Amino acid sequence: MGKALVVGCGGVASVAVHKMVQNSEVFEEVCIASRTKSKCDALKAKLDGGKTKITTAQVDANNVDELVALIEKEKPDVVVNLALPYQDLTIMEACLATKTHYLDTANYEPEDTAKFEYKWQWAYRERFKEAGITALLGSGFDPGVTGVFSAYALKHHFDEIEYIDILDCNAGDHGYPFATNFNPEINIREVSAKGSYWENGRWIETEPMEIKRVYNFPEIGEREMYLLHHEELESLALNIPGIKRIRFFMTFSQSYLTHLKCLENVGMTSIEPIEFEGKQIVPLQFLKAVLPDPASLGPRTKGKTNIGCIFKGKKDGKENTYYLYNVCDHEACYKEVGSQAVAYTTGVPAMIGAMMLMTGTWNKPGVYNIEEFDPDPFMEALNKWGLPWKEDFNPALVDDEPIKVLEPELIK
Ligand code: NDP
Repeated sequence: MGKALVVGCGGVASVAVHKMVQNSEVFEEVCIASRTKSKCDALKAKLDGGKTKITTAQVDANNVDELVALIEKEKPDVVVNLALPYQDLTIMEACLATKTHYLDTANYEPEDTAKFEYKWQWAYRERFKEAGITALLGSGFDPGVTGVFSAYALKHHFDEIEYIDILDCNAGDHGYPFATNFNPEINIREVSAKGSYWENGRWIETEPMEIKRVYNFPEIGEREMYLLHHEELESLALNIPGIKRIRFFMTFSQSYLTHLKCLENVGMTSIEPIEFEGKQIVPLQFLKAVLPDPASLGPRTKGKTNIGCIFKGKKDGKENTYYLYNVCDHEACYKEVGSQAVAYTTGVPAMIGAMMLMTGTWNKPGVYNIEEFDPDPFMEALNKWGLPWKEDFNPALVDDEPIKVLEPELIK
């Protein structure tokens, strides 16, 4: 069928490329390009021998000219951006210059301000449309599958969705006192920021981790979860007509939160550069260097993730509730592709999104969030490619749960 150029070669890219190789009918060729070429070569060495032809390249994705030269040489059908959010705009520029479809899993964030918004990427809408190419924004799990779930719920189970709660539970245990499941810098910037949710047409801001709920997750059990701002809230608030409130909750253990608070208190999570022994360093980047590499968590992580959306609204004039979720097992993911479930649940939808664009199943020139496409073929592919979903037509709602505090875990 065609060729994908994957930019970045971290945890998520590794899963996406594994899945592309499994899906060799669609992905006949894959070029893996990243800042550190040796990582691309190591991944190629692991996966060579199948039907997919794999090549590798070195690229600085902050540099548009380098990207354009690479795309012109490789001539992919789609560029799959699995580098960091800082590179979104340069990669979009290069796609525009070469008229190549674009996909990512995280929205643009300027490196010097921990603030992510879609406005920078949405500004490319007209130019992508005129060039006849599609940019598919946010094709991971959250954002990604959560948007597909929302479009699917609206298409099949509601006339109007009024409330969405997105619940992201990672009950995996990697045995370290503190580690992050994906890029530590991006992860810590996200969770140490103020929270916010959308209600009645406006954003309501909260202090970081101010709102806590307990939810009894299917196949996992009770976990404490905290309200965060999350990027799909911004697009879903616009794309789900009549929505009254949309919130995002993520689970954290007490151990994780206590370590994070301590690191924050001593200044280690700051993104302001400081002078250290005659050199400028960013404390958060230094912290990233001393924390375990998320890719190394795979063999140690046990337990499951459960990520999904609870919808409440109207169908045929009656109140309706519906919960769509996926449960993923860290050890099963590791066995299959050598990565833990957080990378797996992001890499699989990245492969599926790329397949939607390459096969022309989703063909809509412009810049779109994932919920703006027909969810059905994506939902079918989730079942086929390792992220089967489950539904509950009578779920417990978040606000119905008593607000209570679980016994804090001992700090390991
Ligand atoms: P990693 O840090 O493991 O990997 C990032 C990769 O990008 C590395 O290979 C890195 O290269 C490469 N890279 C960084 N800067 C450049 C550059 N200037 N030029 C070329 N390559 C570069 O991150 P993850 O795999 O954990 O995350 C990848 C993306 O997925 C992130 O944007 C993250 O926010 C997103 N994500 C989305 C989720 C979702 O559900 N939507 C969930 C989890 C993550 P090097 O090896 O040299 O450092």
